[in-house]
Amino acid sequence: MKAERRSFLKKVGVGAAALTAGLASKAVPAFAKKTIRWKMVTTWPPHFPVLGEGADLFAKWVDEMSGGRLKITVYGGGELVPPLGVFDAVSQGTVQMGHGAAYYWAGKSPATQFFAAVPFGFNAQSMNAWILNGGGMKLWEEVYAPFNVKPFLAGNTGVQMGGWFNKEIKSINDIKGLKMRIPGLGGKVIAKAGGNAVLVAGGEIYTNLDRGVIDATEWVGPYHDLKMGFYKAAKYYYYPGWHEPGTALEAIVNKKAWESLPKDLQAIVDAAAYKSNMWMISEFESKNNAALVELIEKHHVKLRQFPESVLKSLKKLSKEVLDDLAAKDPMSKKVYEHFKKFQKNIYAWNKLTEEQYQKFKYL
Ligand code: CA
Repeated sequence: MKAERRSFLKKVGVGAAALTAGLASKAVPAFAKKTIRWKMVTTWPPHFPVLGEGADLFAKWVDEMSGGRLKITVYGGGELVPPLGVFDAVSQGTVQMGHGAAYYWAGKSPATQFFAAVPFGFNAQSMNAWILNGGGMKLWEEVYAPFNVKPFLAGNTGVQMGGWFNKEIKSINDIKGLKMRIPGLGGKVIAKAGGNAVLVAGGEIYTNLDRGVIDATEWVGPYHDLKMGFYKAAKYYYYPGWHEPGTALEAIVNKKAWESLPKDLQAIVDAAAYKSNMWMISEFESKNNAALVELIEKHHVKLRQFPESVLKSLKKLSKEVLDDLAAKDPMSKKVYEHFKKFQKNIYAWNKLTEEQYQKFKYL
């Protein structure tokens, strides 16, 4: 009996080994076994919490899924190219990949902003629906195509906070003369409201706020803002982040580098982006509230809600900013029309689902 069993196992073993050898030689061509090395430059400081971590994890997952066949070395902003030089480096093929947010490239094409954040636009769930399954990706690819760059959705912050202010905002008039660090379309809205929207690199915001060079700043949300230490420089923390209701992060790949990858590695890069997208929103959403409690209880931050009248005014101004943009740039018009149509469609559905569900709160 024992001998029989051993002989059976031996046969199975040999069979399996032969089968594996057969598969190895037939299914994986010799060229695909060699290690491909890519460089990924990012707009974040090295290993920056959540955002930079997302880029690091992306590389780790690609390595694991490909059995080490595609190795991506991640560089923080300034290590290889400046943070805002990422798009150019990928476009020119100096590096194969980049990681950042599409609104940083508004100077290349204003339509890029739709694929990061639109004031009073999509939340994370609607952004995913629009880009991944609602036709948004085709437009995003079209916007990046002249630069030989292929975009991937690779993260989302969720609804951001309205920002840190050194005075209370009680009416839209309080925005007048306010010097605020706020990028992108949100900055244009603040400027329309009479404020002074300035761009300050992430690493310099705290000092600017502390020294009174700026009166206010927006950033991300409690988990990340706590790490940035803004509570030491401004005491009013406003919600909601009307200007960034679900900011998307991106991974970008040089077209030539992408086309040189075998199909299975292309699928792995695509899968790592999907995983990254889900990981990032989950990381923010799972940790934001505990950080907010710490900000309020330990650091005595004063939490404030923007008055409804202020939000209504900002919404009206946001529409004007978007209409202006569409009137000036044909590609922005094309994307905005698609965006608006999708927004109308998904909000009609959300009215019956998300909105009704919210009324019941919790168990
Ligand atoms: Ca922000």
